Amino acid sequence: KFVFMKRDTQVFELIAAEKERQINGIELIASENFTSPQVMEAAGSVLTNKYAEGYPGKRYYGGCEIVDQVETIAIERAKELFGAVYANVQPHSGSQANAAVFQACLQPGDTILGFDLSHGGHLTHGSPVNFSGKLYRSTFYGVEEETGMLNYDKIQEIASKEKPKLIIAGASAYSRDIDFKRFREIADSVDALLLADIAHPAGLIAKGILNDPIPHCHFVTTTTHKTLRGPRGGLILMGQDFDNPFGIRLKNGNLRKMSALIDLAVFPGNQGGPLEHIIAAKAIAFGEALTDEFLHYMIQVKKNAAAMAAAFVGRDYKIISGGTDNHVMLIDLRNKGITGKEAEKVLVQADITANKNMVPFDDKSPFITSGIRFGTAAITTRGLREDDMGVIVSFIDEVLSNPENEEVISRVKENVNTMMRKRPLFNSLLIEQV
Ligand code: PLP
Repeated sequence: KFVFMKRDTQVFELIAAEKERQINGIELIASENFTSPQVMEAAGSVLTNKYAEGYPGKRYYGGCEIVDQVETIAIERAKELFGAVYANVQPHSGSQANAAVFQACLQPGDTILGFDLSHGGHLTHGSPVNFSGKLYRSTFYGVEEETGMLNYDKIQEIASKEKPKLIIAGASAYSRDIDFKRFREIADSVDALLLADIAHPAGLIAKGILNDPIPHCHFVTTTTHKTLRGPRGGLILMGQDFDNPFGIRLKNGNLRKMSALIDLAVFPGNQGGPLEHIIAAKAIAFGEALTDEFLHYMIQVKKNAAAMAAAFVGRDYKIISGGTDNHVMLIDLRNKGITGKEAEKVLVQADITANKNMVPFDDKSPFITSGIRFGTAAITTRGLREDDMGVIVSFIDEVLSNPENEEVISRVKENVNTMMRKRPLFNSLLIEQV
């Protein structure tokens, strides 16, 4: 006897409501994007039913012949996209990708040197509330107060003093290109390994728009869901394989290869079964990112960010470092008399989503903050162009200049909704051409 399952309307109604929210609003959270329909189809596919602990050809479960092929395609496409010799597509998130690299080359208590969270770094770069700051001795570099930019001579000084075993180059809220070559010189001078965490600009880097970390960094980690426009997940890459210099020698006197150590650190070190439905979605996203249409998309993301930054500067907003080389900008709101928390809240009332963010040398707590971060990856996927950026900035300025004025906020919200309803969620060049 079959029991018919009732559709879970409670949850599906919420999913429908979230879809409406995404369609109606202007999405400026720098770490978000809209995946293509085929990426979502794979993420919601029967592959979610499959256990596949291990790696292609070496699994701990039967019936993995098909997911082996899927995972191999994802690995090969990731390698091609970034020019890497090694890729691990299993990390469930960017944080787990970083955790696996740390575990592969460090011992608890070892020193790491990362980008200060309050200056634009990520939690996993040594924050005391994160595994990276609890398991390892974390030290930090930051940006210069006057310029808002990294000062590589100072990073060299800190590295020489702290003698880290691993240096992390990469950020969540830094709008300038990173000099990975210089980072490698610093790392080599203190015999440290170098990790580039390109979670944010991965798509721009893959298409050659920003400096390439692969030739200079021992490891590269990324998320797959930001500028790369794939499903939520993580990825680890290496430009070349090498022996772990900090490792214990095997019986035959050899050191372990880093590729083997990273594989072990992901599974069984940090995770159990890989998410093969997400790995299939990653494979599709990497395939999309390999196209020329994705190059055009990334060029437009950068152009839109430059146009948005110029429009903010034109309205006397203070962008940290004065502008942007990538998809993101961090704005210090202190001259506007509004905190990051208040700005985020009032913008949401007008259906504009962004996130409050600490600015370098912030005098407010991480819950309040003096800053707000904007990014153009998601709105560019919806087909917005440079001309639209001035309009968006005028919406933002109206709201932030009148945070108590409900009439202004509801008028802006109506204008936002009218603008965005004309734009399908996935409106990029890639789909328009199909
Ligand atoms: N690294 C950087 C630089 C990030 O910005 C992020 C996410 O915001 C991560 C790592 C972690 O990614 P996830 O949220 O998937 O753990």
